[in-house]
Amino acid sequence: MNTEQCPHIVVLGAGFGGLTFCQTFRHAEARITVIDRQNHHLFQPLLYQVATAGLSAPEIAQPIRSILSDQPNVRVLMDEVREIRLGERAVVLRDRPEPVGYDYLIIALGGVTTYFGHPEWEALAPGLKSLEDAVRIRRRVLLAFERAEMEPDPAVQRRLMTIVVVGGGPTGVELAGAFSELSRNVLRTDFRRIDPTRARVVLIEASPVVLSNFPKDLGENATQTLREMGVEVHTSAKVKALSEGRVELDTGEVIEAETVLWAAGVGANPLTRTLGVAVDRAGRIQAAPDCSLPGHPEAFAIGDLVSLVQEDGRPVPGVSPAAMQMARHVARLIEQDLASPGGVPAAERPPFRYWDKGSMATIGRSAAVAYLRDFHLTGMTAWFAWLLVHLLFLIGFRNKLAVFLQWTYSYFTYKRGARIISGVRPGPP
Ligand SMILES: Cc1cc2nc3c(=O)[nH]c(=O)nc-3n(C[C@H](O)[C@H](O)[C@H](O)COP(=O)(O)OP(=O)(O)OC[C@H]3O[C@@H](n4cnc5c(N)ncnc54)[C@H](O)[C@@H]3O)c2cc1C
Repeated sequence: MNTEQCPHIVVLGAGFGGLTFCQTFRHAEARITVIDRQNHHLFQPLLYQVATAGLSAPEIAQPIRSILSDQPNVRVLMDEVREIRLGERAVVLRDRPEPVGYDYLIIALGGVTTYFGHPEWEALAPGLKSLEDAVRIRRRVLLAFERAEMEPDPAVQRRLMTIVVVGGGPTGVELAGAFSELSRNVLRTDFRRIDPTRARVVLIEASPVVLSNFPKDLGENATQTLREMGVEVHTSAKVKALSEGRVELDTGEVIEAETVLWAAGVGANPLTRTLGVAVDRAGRIQAAPDCSLPGHPEAFAIGDLVSLVQEDGRPVPGVSPAAMQMARHVARLIEQDLASPGGVPAAERPPFRYWDKGSMATIGRSAAVAYLRDFHLTGMTAWFAWLLVHLLFLIGFRNKLAVFLQWTYSYFTYKRGARIISGVRPGPP
């Protein structure tokens, strides 16, 4: 068969879902084109460590081309998806004049940070989604300490040394815990005029408990551990107003803070709203049970931009195992479709079933929470489990080794290697 006649599968996004599809789909003749606007696959669960100077950016990312280099049927295009034309079975890219046609489409473009109807807050309280976000946050925090060291006014100094994290989900908890450790342990002896151990780290959560998607005892354990680490945890509190250096809560409290970080809202990639298919309030595609788009059995949506409800009524969560499991499910469906003459009718396809492997969140040194069904772990045991799982799933032997060495070094020395501030323009001589 000439290559142009081979079934063509286009995969949009090389995150957890898109990449897993490329790695698991097997067919002798099909060709795959994977399109991502970044040249790297990003291990988002460790992004907070880049933002808090624990790891450097290349340690949690890997070039997509190199991951897929041993798969000759996969072509990688670094470009931005601008439009998906379901009716024409074609995708429009930013840098390519001709749309890319497909026989099967996998939409795996992930999510974006959302601000509950306040898009203007994005500039004041950055979210954590990409390597650029993480490096920007790290620079902002480290620069604030540098400015505090030179600041004569104690009130301004105090504002410079205050970090507010909005959102007490796993990312918010991880950020708050890591910033508290950065100021109390790592920077403790590095300054002469300021005392970094007096830095304020405030975590704001709208629910009565942090980690509200975890079992209650683990949320309570996380709250208590954070407080013991010096984090001010404000639960049942919402941000009412945000302005430069100032956070106002609905409880009436006002916090002066140089750094405000947003870990509160996640929505689907905005392209989902242009497809003409049903989406939920967060913009997630309301896919058919097999992950296909209603009315388009050749197009599938997987990962964070999908809203799927399981048979027991619980929604499939927006986590990496769900994206990877959906990718494997869709890969099998397309393999079966191609193997049977005339394809498998959409109504006969098996639904996607999510196998919940539990969840975990780290809070700080030797402190984490984890659960698998009724089995709950806290403290050191949960922390070791967290370290192991993250090392195991991080892509690339070089990255695994580099991260393992960094963690070991930090554990024994209380130091963090990635504290260089880059991107600062030197002033006049
Ligand atoms: C800070 C953070 C921490 C997290 N921690 C955990 C955790 O501990 N455990 C866990 O299970 N999950 C965690 N998650 C969630 C997990 O990362 C997601 O569920 C998972 O990445 C979803 O996979 P995906 O394939 O749907 O999307 P993603 O992995 O986000 O991939 C989407 C891809 O699409 C690309 N893309 C987007 N728009 C375009 C466009 N227009 N054109 C071209 N390419 C585009 C992006 O560059 C990206 O590569 C975390 C997420 C974040 C942000």
